[in-house]
Amino acid sequence: MKATILVVEDNPTNRKLVVDLLRYEGYEVVEAVDAEVAQLVLAGPLPDLVLIDIALPGMDGLSLTRLLRTDDRTRHLRIVALTASAMKGDEQQALDVGCDGYITKPINTRALPALIAGFLRNPDQRG
Ligand SMILES: [Mg+2]
Repeated sequence: MKATILVVEDNPTNRKLVVDLLRYEGYEVVEAVDAEVAQLVLAGPLPDLVLIDIALPGMDGLSLTRLLRTDDRTRHLRIVALTASAMKGDEQQALDVGCDGYITKPINTRALPALIAGFLRNPDQRG
């Protein structure tokens, strides 16, 4: 069975792009528009990977990651940040709060499947 991936992204266009791509690759995908919805989803069965947009309304992706890393239940989740390449420093911050890695936006649709597969193979890519 293919892995389950939670996509936390507030921008509908970006979210649809990532979700459609991952579903096309055969993944089971759950969507959340913000950190609050993501937390509700994560109260249920845990996904194999969480993609978290850094820039979210309300609680941002870095704060959400920090929170998930303090909870025993979600401490070991594979978390990959979605960072805007224009926002210098976001990548390092993502790693600092405990993300296993990051993917820069705009999303490279041709590269995404291999990146995701790589993160699912290697549970800890923290440097
Ligand atoms: Mg955003």
